Amino acid sequence: MSSTASGTRNGTWRNWGGNVASRPAREVEPASVEELADAVRRAAEDGLKVKAVGTGHSFTSIAATDGVLIRPQLLTGIRRIDRDSMTVTVEAGTPLKRLNMALAREGLSLTNMGDIMEQTVSGATSTGTHGTGRESGSIAAQITGLELVTADGSVLHCSEKENPDVFAAARIGLGALGIVTAITFAVEPIFLLTAREEPMPFEKVLRDFDELWAENEHFEFYWFPHTGSTNTKRNNRSAGPQRPVGQVKALFEDEFLSNGVFQVAQWVGRAAPATIPAIAQISSKALSARTYTDIPYKVFTSPRRVRFVEMEYAVPRGAVVETLRELKTMVDRSDLKVSFPVEVRTAPADDITLSTASGRDSAYIAVHMAKGTPYMRYFTAAERIFTAHEGRPHWGKVHTRDAEYFAEVYPRFGEFTALRDRLDPDRLFQNDYLRRVLGA
Ligand SMILES: Cc1cc2nc3c(=O)[nH]c(=O)nc-3n(C[C@H](O)[C@H](O)[C@H](O)COP(=O)(O)OP(=O)(O)OC[C@H]3O[C@@H](n4cnc5c(N)ncnc54)[C@H](O)[C@@H]3O)c2cc1C
Repeated sequence: MSSTASGTRNGTWRNWGGNVASRPAREVEPASVEELADAVRRAAEDGLKVKAVGTGHSFTSIAATDGVLIRPQLLTGIRRIDRDSMTVTVEAGTPLKRLNMALAREGLSLTNMGDIMEQTVSGATSTGTHGTGRESGSIAAQITGLELVTADGSVLHCSEKENPDVFAAARIGLGALGIVTAITFAVEPIFLLTAREEPMPFEKVLRDFDELWAENEHFEFYWFPHTGSTNTKRNNRSAGPQRPVGQVKALFEDEFLSNGVFQVAQWVGRAAPATIPAIAQISSKALSARTYTDIPYKVFTSPRRVRFVEMEYAVPRGAVVETLRELKTMVDRSDLKVSFPVEVRTAPADDITLSTASGRDSAYIAVHMAKGTPYMRYFTAAERIFTAHEGRPHWGKVHTRDAEYFAEVYPRFGEFTALRDRLDPDRLFQNDYLRRVLGA
């Protein structure tokens, strides 16, 4: 199974995780900003809502619509590379993979990335997609300018200097402020990262968390529920030489151990959930330490072949150790059988209105379950712990929070909704998800 796009079959659109479906009234694939603006105007005339979709990698119904679905396929490519300002401007539907590869060919790179690069640039940034970083933030935090088509069909540009109030919010716009047509990102000369992957006891990671975070540009780890084991990953800039994970080793470790063995473990676990803790013990021990050096996107990202459903919350970084202890205690005391690791990452505070890291140094804790297995009991118990620490859920991952909650955990929530009232007074870009998280 690949991790590429969602799709529409027999009129029904489904997301990657298979947990969201919708039936759009019609679909359009604009090939230019003019065609897109035209589609927005026509939808308004027909009394239909509008929603742009990326690759459907969100686990929430944030991209679902019963109105007009705007597909990204024909709005792709690099518009401009500006070596004076060190920026790249891309069409909104460009997959992150294509952006990363094009930049590398030009000797350039983004500063930070998430775990995969299948998503479109607009889909990824609209929900606040992030990796891990001590100083470097989410993909949206690397945006320096945006172009969007608003509800009246006009084209709006924003940056720190031009319409700064729109820029503050629209970098993570949840699809609520307009349809993004182009994004300008800050880039830097391409560099090398050395990755050190190393299994480490859960207790040691928690005890040394502050040091591990402070000593590394990008620190993250996976904890295997039902075990006291983790796998840590430290990425730091390096002078080289480039030492990619060898082809054979990559095939063995990534495809067989990380994805292949994992897939089999999921099948066995689904057929016989009672075996999951034993499988977790074995698979957490199958990992071994390794070090490699490569260009950024090859170190940050890897394919995800086993499908899953995910919840992820950002908590204040200072609360991460306590939150993780509570999560482990909850799993240990329950009869839950959790076959997927818990992923822990960090981000520095940023200045984007509804970024999960808005104004707050953050740590992310993500819980996963295999696609097709019941996940709500685990996620509900985890969510109770996350929200007790004023957690902010990833906009694209399963959660049950609503506008009332967000008004409490986001000091600038009212700023976002006021801007939405101005840019989309008739709620052309509304869907059920936005009604829940932003209000009517
Ligand atoms: C295997 C996997 C790995 C993942 N890894 C990470 C990770 O490492 N870090 C992380 O933070 N998240 C991660 N995610 C979550 C994922 O990055 C986000 O859900 C992201 O939003 C998906 O991008 P997409 O292109 O599929 O957008 P979609 O899910 O299709 O859409 C997301 C939102 O963007 C809006 N949108 C799309 N295009 C436009 C546009 N042109 N204008 C305005 N709005 C638009 C949609 O309306 C919707 O609101 C992962 C998800 C999966 C399935």
